[in-house]
Amino acid sequence: MRVAIIGSGASGIAAAYYLKQAGFADFTLFEKSDDLGGTWRDNRYPGVACDVPSHLYRFTFAPNAEWTRRCSPGAEIQAYMRDVAKQIGAFEKIAFNHEVTKVQFADGGWEVETSKGPYGHFDAVISASGALHHPKMPNIDGIESFLGRSCHSAQWDDATDLTGKRVGVIGSGSTGTQITATLADHVQSLTLFQRTAQWIMPLPNYPIAEEKRQEYRDDPAKMDGYYHYLAGRFNEVFGDAVSGHNPEAYEHMAEACEENLRTSVTDPELRAKLTPDYAVGCKRLVLSDSFYEAIQRPNATLETGAISKVEQNGVRMEDGSLHELDYLIYATGFHAHSLCHPMHIAGRDGRVLAEEWADGNYAYRSVAVPGFPNWFMIGGPNSPIGNFSYLMTAEHQAKYVVSLIKEASISGTVEPKPDVTDAYNAELREAMNGTIWVSGCDSWYFDKQGRVASYPWSFSRFAEEMQTPNLADFHIRP
Ligand SMILES: Cc1cc2nc3c(=O)[nH]c(=O)nc-3n(C[C@H](O)[C@H](O)[C@H](O)COP(=O)(O)OP(=O)(O)OC[C@H]3O[C@@H](n4cnc5c(N)ncnc54)[C@H](O)[C@@H]3O)c2cc1C
Repeated sequence: MRVAIIGSGASGIAAAYYLKQAGFADFTLFEKSDDLGGTWRDNRYPGVACDVPSHLYRFTFAPNAEWTRRCSPGAEIQAYMRDVAKQIGAFEKIAFNHEVTKVQFADGGWEVETSKGPYGHFDAVISASGALHHPKMPNIDGIESFLGRSCHSAQWDDATDLTGKRVGVIGSGSTGTQITATLADHVQSLTLFQRTAQWIMPLPNYPIAEEKRQEYRDDPAKMDGYYHYLAGRFNEVFGDAVSGHNPEAYEHMAEACEENLRTSVTDPELRAKLTPDYAVGCKRLVLSDSFYEAIQRPNATLETGAISKVEQNGVRMEDGSLHELDYLIYATGFHAHSLCHPMHIAGRDGRVLAEEWADGNYAYRSVAVPGFPNWFMIGGPNSPIGNFSYLMTAEHQAKYVVSLIKEASISGTVEPKPDVTDAYNAELREAMNGTIWVSGCDSWYFDKQGRVASYPWSFSRFAEEMQTPNLADFHIRP
């Protein structure tokens, strides 16, 4: 089997590893950029870090005793991704600066075309092109008229020095809070423009002492034990709490967030502005033990009014006031539903993926779509996302996809049956009604049809579903 993997972020690396493990060594990872790592290559803003513990945000096949903090900085994760790609022999298989533009089903396989022209024929394709990949700018008038400097958080210029500058941050989600917590100390003034208050879970991000690292180097089994403990706490307890499968854990979590706000923010007026009007967990939880402190600094301002427009000198509010700024950071997230965009993916019988998904992305168990034989995804529609390690999700899906590729290597092509896919999605939508995500808030989990793009069941159910493909759910053709 000759396999094309689109993207060399965490998902592409996981796919490469499991392909190799299964004996499929003939694969190419296509990467549009000149480096791997995806999220961790692109997001280099001040304070960028994972917000689940690093000893969980790692591949099971690549334990790492060297993490320096409980939740390590982005640069450390990026270095880890590079090391892992080299260790597993994926690095040399990356075609850098090749953006896949077109993938066409032909002769029982796929013709892959990149920004550099036609590349070749592959028996199977794994799209690992990322969900949080296309930066989303806010719809505010006048953005281009600003005379200071500005950027989206995922397009940070490493040479930027904000010392002594008046900085504005638009967006108060996980990224906006990380930036605020990190910058407030170093700039002349920081204004955080908040449209929606966030629930914040306190997660102390302490350094990991050298003795601890040595302990893990000496005793990898202990480090593995810690991984499994964290997996239980985050992907299972935490994941189940937000998906409605563990009410007791949910109560615990909600109380922790409420108490954090109550005890950390002393000024009642500021506390009121920071108090969300929706249930804990409805939006992705922010994890931080330093944001509340930062926003209470004398040089920090929380602006909750409506923005009228961006002007030459700063941000004009609807009440007429102006925040004069030197630098404006858009921490406004991503087009999270533009999966596989803007590739032209043409399947069997003239089907085009973008057209199939015109009314919303869907898939069979997140990994495959009827009409697209031997086309697979890691991080596809309704993959488990939220406050836990995506790397666990990616590994489960990669193993599952490789099992399907194994089947294809024997039989020809595999493709999910339409009726089974429809039934799966109907069940999924029904189950979504019971989750916290639909309890009355707006979030990036919703697509434009108002459907939530996450996984409504427990993580253990997901792991179970990903154990072995049920081949009866697939058309298998020579
Ligand atoms: C700021 C930030 C913090 C995060 N923190 C966490 C966290 O704490 N825990 C967690 O679990 N998750 C976190 N995430 C989610 C994170 O995106 C995932 O954990 C993971 O990194 C996704 O990996 P991926 O490979 O699926 O996608 P990406 O990392 O987006 O990689 C996709 C790759 O595909 C390439 N690509 C895309 N299209 C093409 C194309 N047409 N041709 C060729 N190459 C292409 C891209 O250049 C990129 O390299 C965070 C995300 C962000 C943005």
